[in-house]
Amino acid sequence: MELSVFFAGTGGSLPSQRRGLPASLVRRGGETLLVDCGEGTQRQLLRSIGLTDVDSILITHLHADHWLGLPGMLKTFDLRDRGRPLPIHGPRGLRELVQGLMRYAGATSYDLHVIELEDGELIEGDGYEIEAVAVSHRGPALGYVLREHDRPGVFDPERARQAGLEEGPDFGRVQRGETVAGVTPAMVMGPPRRGRKLTISGDTRPCAALGEAAWHSDLLIHEATFAIEEAERADQTGHSTATQAAGIARDAEVLMLALNHISVRYPAALLRDQAREIFASTVLPRDFDTIELPLPERGAPRLTRWSERDSAAVAHAGGSAGVEPARTQRTPAGGADSLH
Ligand SMILES: [Zn+2]
Ligand SMILES: [Zn+2]
Repeated sequence: MELSVFFAGTGGSLPSQRRGLPASLVRRGGETLLVDCGEGTQRQLLRSIGLTDVDSILITHLHADHWLGLPGMLKTFDLRDRGRPLPIHGPRGLRELVQGLMRYAGATSYDLHVIELEDGELIEGDGYEIEAVAVSHRGPALGYVLREHDRPGVFDPERARQAGLEEGPDFGRVQRGETVAGVTPAMVMGPPRRGRKLTISGDTRPCAALGEAAWHSDLLIHEATFAIEEAERADQTGHSTATQAAGIARDAEVLMLALNHISVRYPAALLRDQAREIFASTVLPRDFDTIELPLPERGAPRLTRWSERDSAAVAHAGGSAGVEPARTQRTPAGGADSLH
């Protein structure tokens, strides 16, 4: 089953020529979760994979760079006759925010289910759960940890035959967890295989609770708003440096670290290189890049650049194959402070 993250916007605080405001799509099987919805997220999707329908939304915190795209997107779903309810999860204060937004944007004909989460609360999915982790920003802010349930072990047909089962329906029943003619699943199945784990920090200072929750993640997506030279400013504004993000990744022994919430203040390569001094398996996605998380036995996560994508796969996803986004602008080295 596919598990991937599409980076619709990788910037922080301010949009730039190259980076939109925070928004990521987590896709698992046929399900799509939108994590944050910065201003312009609809356009970012239209310019890449298409404005896909989403099954639920998770907002990390209530700074405007993480939700200004919401009302427009919710209205577009309405115009497209969405019927089913849309759950929107986030920290305390989300309900008031959404009510306020929709008071002016106009109600939707489908139901918005706003769910405010506290530290440690779980969202139960089909085959996975998502834990909300209170992080250290300014005001209530959550990171999210998606954990797939363990998968059954590998069925051993030889052991099943030796235990007296005949090939056919009995093989299927015991693999589905039934005891058949005194043969238990444990007798013919290997040990359970772990599922995948994805951790998303949201905006935060280096946060021990998030680091613990991220333990052995396949992928940690961590904000890196500042370079190490501005560690003090990062702390004052509730953010992390790339070096600090890498420290969290190293201590949590994750397989891959992806930096995001990238400021226009720095060339991205500077942040990436500072992180790699601490944690080698660091990538810095650009807008529209994807990271796939294969099942653990099939290897480590992989970053696919939008510019290197398989055009057939993009066409299948409903995107505009062959149309390249403009990538000619260089990221300015100066620029405004990142305060969100
Ligand atoms: Zn932010
Ligand atoms: Zn913020």
